[in-house]
Amino acid sequence: MSTLLRAVKGMNDMLPDEMRRVQRVEAAFARAMQLYGFREVRTPLVEPTSLFVRAIGEATDVVEKEMYSFVHHDEALTLRPEGTAGAVRAYIEHGVPQSEPVTRWYYVGPMFRAERPQRGRYRQFWQAGAEVFGDRGPAADAEMVDLLVRFLRDIGVPDARVLVNSLGDSAARQRYKAVLVDYLLPRAEKLSPYSQRRLEQNPLRILDSKDPRDAEVLEGAPTILEVLSGEDTAHFAAFRRHLDALGAPYEVAPRLVRGLDYYTRTLFEIKGATAKLGAGDTLVGGGRYDAMVADLGGPSVPAIGFAAGVERLVIASEAADVAGAVDAFVAPLGDATLEYALVLARDLRAAGVKTELDGRQSTLKALLRRATAIGARFAAIVGDDEVTKRVVQLKDLDARSQETVAREEVVATLRRKLAERVVEGSS
Ligand code: AMP
Repeated sequence: MSTLLRAVKGMNDMLPDEMRRVQRVEAAFARAMQLYGFREVRTPLVEPTSLFVRAIGEATDVVEKEMYSFVHHDEALTLRPEGTAGAVRAYIEHGVPQSEPVTRWYYVGPMFRAERPQRGRYRQFWQAGAEVFGDRGPAADAEMVDLLVRFLRDIGVPDARVLVNSLGDSAARQRYKAVLVDYLLPRAEKLSPYSQRRLEQNPLRILDSKDPRDAEVLEGAPTILEVLSGEDTAHFAAFRRHLDALGAPYEVAPRLVRGLDYYTRTLFEIKGATAKLGAGDTLVGGGRYDAMVADLGGPSVPAIGFAAGVERLVIASEAADVAGAVDAFVAPLGDATLEYALVLARDLRAAGVKTELDGRQSTLKALLRRATAIGARFAAIVGDDEVTKRVVQLKDLDARSQETVAREEVVATLRRKLAERVVEGSS
């Protein structure tokens, strides 16, 4: 007996009903990005392993334990765990900084991380992200947060919480590490065993802990905002003033650090409702990475970016579902009507009406049942009589009314009725 083949754990199929919601989110994202002057890029799913090690940082969870890496013909390769490293590589490789002072890119595509799968956390997941290269100022940071808030409202996530922080530069982080360790060492035995180990290797990670024991100790800990340089403090203050001017809601979260090592200065996270999303309630993560372009061998160009999890956006978004996939269902009754129906369906599609022809030759009852099941709004029924008289029975499946329409009027009539529906539906 053959064994049933199944998808790899944590890597999910998206069937058409879910894809409709995904497409809606992705279309709204592309619209938002284009409104703000971003252009789409696509980079490979596979990159040299060293790119991620250098960009993301060796002591991060992603690089330490979550990458799908393999050797192929002596080349060490990795399925991309995030989109920024590849975008920066492409930006440098194609000499973009030499030809454009400011570059705005966006992308949508699958990422791979060997995490423990749960609701909203998968091993293959989609990210919609963007990068701005070449603009050091806090206005770029504020515009990025504001566009995200607007985009989230647009897809029906009105209650998202925006958390902002500043991590300063690497010198500030070194100072903060020392201050934090000084504070935590005398309280080490109150920390969770996991955080006790982190105290030596990567103390900033302790701030990410969800363990209540750690939360209690961290309650009184100094924050990184206290050790920022004057310039970093001024950048953070201007960023917040710009957000206020735009009316974008936010909370300062001085203990926010994120899992990737490359951030400098501005850092932000947008959270959705925990009731819906569970532990995976972070919809968007982003921040500045002013040192990465130079670290990866390019010129010294500042940058800021974000990535949103598409599956999480779909779970969080509440907007009413889009209309059915099909507007018109053409139902031919009997062999002799098939060609009349074929031409009718083709003419409807040529006029932009989403049309399905059901050529199974079943009973009217079965055909109408299916038309309703797939959410069609109109059925065009053609029997022998209709072919002879060159008419169509046009049935409105919501209003349950039916009328006889002349064949040459069908396309115009259907288009008019569909347009009326859209206006009614949006009022
Ligand atoms: P990060 O690249 O870790 O900053 O994550 C940015 C966003 O990607 C998160 O806020 C999530 O929405 C999404 N994300 C990250 N990891 C996963 C995952 N394993 N499964 C689903 N979505 C994820």
